[in-house]
Amino acid sequence: MRRFYFDKNEMYGDMIRITGNDVNHIKNVLRMQTGERVVANDKEINDYYCVIEDIDSEQVLLRIESFRKCSAELKTKLYLFQALPKQDKMEFIVQKAVELGAHEVIPVASSRCVVKLDDKKRQEKKLARWQTIAESAAKQSARGIIPKVNSIMSFKQAIDYAEKLERSIIPYEHAKGMEKSRQYMDEAAECESVGIFIGPEGGFEESEIQYACEHGIKPVSLGNRILRTETAGLCVLSILMFKISE
Ligand code: SAH
Repeated sequence: MRRFYFDKNEMYGDMIRITGNDVNHIKNVLRMQTGERVVANDKEINDYYCVIEDIDSEQVLLRIESFRKCSAELKTKLYLFQALPKQDKMEFIVQKAVELGAHEVIPVASSRCVVKLDDKKRQEKKLARWQTIAESAAKQSARGIIPKVNSIMSFKQAIDYAEKLERSIIPYEHAKGMEKSRQYMDEAAECESVGIFIGPEGGFEESEIQYACEHGIKPVSLGNRILRTETAGLCVLSILMFKISE
C-alpha cells in the first residue's frame, strides 16, 4: 500500500488531511481515485490505514479505517555521524542509511574532509536536498519516522552531541583486534542509542581518534580491508540492524 506522511495537526477525528507536494503526486502522478486505500503515517511510528474520501487540487482527505504501530523502527536508535564525503556521495549514504534503519544522520566536517561546505546558503541547499532524499527513502522502505539529517557539525560538536547517546563507536582502519570489536558491536546492539563515527576518504586524524576515545567512544575494526567511506557506515549499520531486528 502507498505510504504518505502527515503532520499530527492535520488529523481531525477519524479524518486526515494530506497537503503539499503529495497532493499532486496522488492526483496527477499516481492518478489515485476515491475509495483507494493508503497508509498515512504521523512521523511518530503510528500507521493509519485509510481510504481516500476526497481529492482536489489543494488537499486529499483520508478516512481512518484502522490503526497499527509501525514495526519498521529498530529498538536501538542508530545515529550515523558521517564525515563529509566527496561529490554527491552523501546522497547515496543518506538513502542507504535510511533503508537500513538509521534514526538520524549527522554530517560532520572532520579535519581531512575535502569538501568544505562553509557557505551557509550552499549548506542549507545541501541539507534540504539530503532531507528530501531521507523522506523518499523512508517512504520506500516503509519507515515509521522520517529520519532527520542534522546540520553539519564540527568533529568536536559531533562528539559533544554523541554524549547524549548510550554508546558510540568509531570504526578505525588501524584499530587492532576483532575480538574487542565484536564485543563492542554486541554491546552496542543492546543499547537504546548508538553513535557511529565514519571518517572521510582520507580517514580520521590520529588526534581525532584519540579525542573520541578520551570521550568514551570505542574504536572498532571492520576487518583487514580498507573500506570506502560510503561502505564503512553501511557495513556497521547492516551488522547492527541485523542483530537488533526482531
Ligand atoms: N585513510 C584511509 C581510509 C579511510 S576509509 C586509507 O586510505 O588508508 C574511511 C573511513 O572508513 C575510515 O575513517 C573509517 O572510519 C572507516 N573504515 C574503512 N575501512 C575500515 C576498516 N577496515 N576498519 C575500520 N574502519 C574502517
